[in-house]
Amino acid sequence: MTERTVVIFKPDSVERGLVGEILSRFEKAGLRIVGSKTIRVSKEFVGKHYPNSKSFLLSVGSKTLENYVQNKRDPEKDFGSNDPVEVGRKIRKWSIDYLARGPVIAAVLEGSQAVANVRRLVGGTSPADSNPGTIRGDYSTDSFIFANMQKRSIQNLVHASGIPEEAEEEIKLWFKGEELLDVDSE
Ligand code: ADP
Repeated sequence: MTERTVVIFKPDSVERGLVGEILSRFEKAGLRIVGSKTIRVSKEFVGKHYPNSKSFLLSVGSKTLENYVQNKRDPEKDFGSNDPVEVGRKIRKWSIDYLARGPVIAAVLEGSQAVANVRRLVGGTSPADSNPGTIRGDYSTDSFIFANMQKRSIQNLVHASGIPEEAEEEIKLWFKGEELLDVDSE
């Protein structure tokens, strides 16, 4: 069950000098780095990573609205809407601004069930709701509502592919074949 997954060190982890420390957590857990690069990405490029599709908008919008219900806060206050697609549209714009604001480091990690294992090490979308011991839980206290009150994306240090199909798409989007070690190479 060896898999490959994409991790993007977002501008806040690069700015805070946390990349080495976070990368070493993945290595210590047994994941192998099969490609990596430091790059600046345009808003147009990030728009492909966070696609303007109904399923993406609905997914980020619904997750956020569930958090608003739990915290008893009215989404109209921060989004002017309680429609998940409209909420997702605003979050997508903030997330594009965030990833394009400075250099990022993109990496492909390989290992046993790499997609699920990397997500487990990373934690949940909101650092404030992520367990201690996870990367987002240990290095940030940002949350949905705190970020949304300031009309910005949650600063949560890293992106990690959600499912194996997404990992395959993201590997193709972020890397050329020759930038990665061959599958099965030593
Ligand atoms: P994840 O990165 O945990 O898979 P999503 O795919 O749902 O999360 O969302 C993509 C990114 O958009 C998140 O990592 C986060 O930076 C940002 N984001 C998601 N929801 C919100 C929100 N309500 N407010 C601000 N930023 C958000």
